Amino acid sequence: MKTVQPAKISRVLPDSIAAEIGFEPGDAIVSINNTRPRDLIDYRFLCSDEYLEIEVLDTKGITHQIEIEKDYDDDLGLEFETALFDGLIQCNNHCPFCFIDQQPPGKRESLYLKDDDYRLSFLYGSYLTLTNLTEKERRICSIRRHSFSVKLVKVR
Ligand code: SF4
Repeated sequence: MKTVQPAKISRVLPDSIAAEIGFEPGDAIVSINNTRPRDLIDYRFLCSDEYLEIEVLDTKGITHQIEIEKDYDDDLGLEFETALFDGLIQCNNHCPFCFIDQQPPGKRESLYLKDDDYRLSFLYGSYLTLTNLTEKERRICSIRRHSFSVKLVKVR
């Protein structure tokens, strides 16, 4: 299993709840209501609670406990360096025509990543083969898809 890293904040939106509390870029969220978010989907799901206890690691390495009461649909106003706090799930296919394998050497690192992460497909519509999911991830994927559908219905 991949290690979940604290979710590093890249931007605090002005006039947001997070700005009012004093969050700063470089701070990192360790847990929300005692759960470590693995990715942006977890973060959004956990933040839909009305009462949040957030463990934050600041840029000096000091841990803070923050309590927030809000409406369930209030956004905290945080953006993160990455949507995946436990790393990218890569493709494990071996297509003979793989366009990644055909990249010439010496290009930027991201061009060699075989992105096949269902979370990026949920969030951004990335192409996905679904051939690399374990049985456990299939169940999680199904549950999360269901909760995402419910959220979309609410927006409409
Ligand atoms: S990255 Fe695409 S082309 Fe390459 S092995 Fe995976 S599925 Fe096949």
